[in-house]
Amino acid sequence: MAYIYGVRMSKKTVWDFESSLALLERRFGSRITVDRSLADFNTFGTGGAAKLLIEVRDAQELSGAVEIAAEHGIPFFMVGGGSNLLVSDIGYDGLIIKNSIMGLNVSGKNITAGAGEELQTLVNFATDNALTGLEFATGIWGTVGGAIYGNAGAYGGETGEFLDSAEVVDRQGNIRTEGADYFEFSYRGSKLKKSGEFVTRATFALKEGKKEAIRKKIDEIMALRDDKFPIGLRSAGCFFKNIPDSSREHGKLSTGMLLEQVGAKAMRWGGARVFANHANILINEGTAKSEDIKKLAALMKSKVKEKFGIELQEEVILLGDFKEDSL
Ligand SMILES: Cc1cc2nc3c(=O)[nH]c(=O)nc-3n(C[C@H](O)[C@H](O)[C@H](O)COP(=O)(O)OP(=O)(O)OC[C@H]3O[C@@H](n4cnc5c(N)ncnc54)[C@H](O)[C@@H]3O)c2cc1C
Repeated sequence: MAYIYGVRMSKKTVWDFESSLALLERRFGSRITVDRSLADFNTFGTGGAAKLLIEVRDAQELSGAVEIAAEHGIPFFMVGGGSNLLVSDIGYDGLIIKNSIMGLNVSGKNITAGAGEELQTLVNFATDNALTGLEFATGIWGTVGGAIYGNAGAYGGETGEFLDSAEVVDRQGNIRTEGADYFEFSYRGSKLKKSGEFVTRATFALKEGKKEAIRKKIDEIMALRDDKFPIGLRSAGCFFKNIPDSSREHGKLSTGMLLEQVGAKAMRWGGARVFANHANILINEGTAKSEDIKKLAALMKSKVKEKFGIELQEEVILLGDFKEDSL
């Protein structure tokens, strides 16, 4: 399988571990960790270790880590909340950059958030400041940066609709700020999926609202989500994207509905199973390997292809090497 930006590479990258570690240690000291389990950094709780890992706390640190990695041929990949990731059991042969850039500020109707802040923390901060718009995001896991990368959305709202501007670091380590149009938001997509740049902080343009009304909307959404999404279980939300279809409500055909019709809710593989309340959500029951989850997803995909002739696209990002879709 081919991988880009550390996710997919056409051939294995050769890099020198000892000299790379020495360089990174010179810059970050003992904050660089070696062979750190990535199961602790994603919500499935599966996957192998990262050869190298650093948590960055500001744009300069991120820029420094990227500069060293880019100059010395070290593959690198950013992790936010790890709530949309399936990490290979073999782990990641390169540098994982965990985004821990925090901070929340309000200025008039705009809020600026560090990309490492949880999206829910941003929603709560907006509510406390009586600013409306982001209620749709309540209950979506992960960080502000991850939500921009994948244009996270639910219940008729998407992250990109409210973005005013964001600071990014490119793959050489240069820092700059871009307006919302730059990000070319689409359904579960943004330009970042092609450019490989990283968001460090983002400003959202919101509207004045009433705290009571905002809280009511949040409570309504949470009540809907409580039925559909797993609580206290290890998942990454919906595994596959919905299918664009202009004749339907919200312009999408529900993948969950197709999966339900092929009997997905009864499917399992090793320690992985499909969530009983939502056929598009895969669960690690506790003992699953990433390969079990991948095989279960491949089984679901093949059944939908067989019955409806539709090729499902993964919403979850696969990190590292996986076997081809062999069942
Ligand atoms: C129970 C549950 C419910 C969910 N419900 C929804 C839902 O309703 N709607 C929805 O859209 N999603 C949903 N998700 C999926 C997930 O929460 C979102 O995709 C989320 O935005 C991912 O953010 P993250 O920080 O966890 O990203 P990660 O999983 O850490 O990373 C995902 C991708 O984003 C990239 N990335 C992360 N941070 C940055 C950054 N700062 N700059 C650039 N790239 C970055 C990573 O490199 C990776 O490619 C759900 C997940 C769970 C577990």
